[in-house]
Amino acid sequence: MSQSAPTRVAIVTGAARGIGEATARQLAADGMSVAVVDLDEGACANTVTAIHDAGGTALAVGADVSDPIQVNTAVDRVTAELGAPTVLVNNAGVLRDNLLFKMTDDDWETVMAVHLRGAFLFSRAVQKHMVDAGWGRIVSLSSTSALGNRGQANYAAAKAGLQGFTKTLAIELGRYGITANAVAPGFIVTDMTAATAARVGVDFAQFEKAAVAQIPVGRAGRPEDVANTVSFLVSEGAGFVSGQVIYVAGGPRA
Ligand code: NAP
Repeated sequence: MSQSAPTRVAIVTGAARGIGEATARQLAADGMSVAVVDLDEGACANTVTAIHDAGGTALAVGADVSDPIQVNTAVDRVTAELGAPTVLVNNAGVLRDNLLFKMTDDDWETVMAVHLRGAFLFSRAVQKHMVDAGWGRIVSLSSTSALGNRGQANYAAAKAGLQGFTKTLAIELGRYGITANAVAPGFIVTDMTAATAARVGVDFAQFEKAAVAQIPVGRAGRPEDVANTVSFLVSEGAGFVSGQVIYVAGGPRA
């Protein structure tokens, strides 16, 4: 961040662990005050402590991203305690994988609610602060699964939906100095990929090895790989990059 730039307030959802945690820590290292949002406020303590220990500013906020009242309350609290948020990372996510014929209504609704409704609710709640500031950055987590992935009809639809959502926000909000972009990770080592390995009954080391065999750069992704990309997209200097989907997958596709 340049010396003349104001301190930005960022909200990162699903930031208790994994990609969200790494992103919250990176944005704090970039000089932002970071609201660490997750379902359980207590679960945010590790991320907040790590940011404080590194000399940064962070606030733990418990909220279910799919609940409009909780989202609005969370944004009001962030505004009161850290300042008006002008950076939003829609990262909270869940998996409810199943082949189509076994996928339940609840599997479908839950994934749509957390990924799509969550990104919608938080973006809608935060955009007024961005419009007031004449500056804003929204990054939503898509996935290589948006290109289609066996057992993920719900997740693939939600992650592809986030790409259309992002492009529309870019068109609507650009005139207010706000950019909207999506980051689409490939295989990143987190609890989410560990849960997938467990679900299909494969030892994680074997699961990772099989994934790496398909990745051109020859390694698995780390949460920091995604955090570094988000860091660029929310930076002062990224103001002419909007409506894009950046695949962070160690190669051109899944
Ligand atoms: P993760 O380790 O499972 O972390 C997700 C976090 O989101 C958890 O802390 C979880 O809280 C939280 N969360 C879930 N539902 C929520 C809700 N309704 N409201 C608030 N927070 C909620 O996942 P990750 O691997 O870091 O993934 C982060 C994002 O990247 C997700 O959107 C995911 O789809 C996307 N992504 C991941 C990969 C990958 O390979 N890991 C690849 C592509 C895209 P609880 O612990 O309480 O459930």
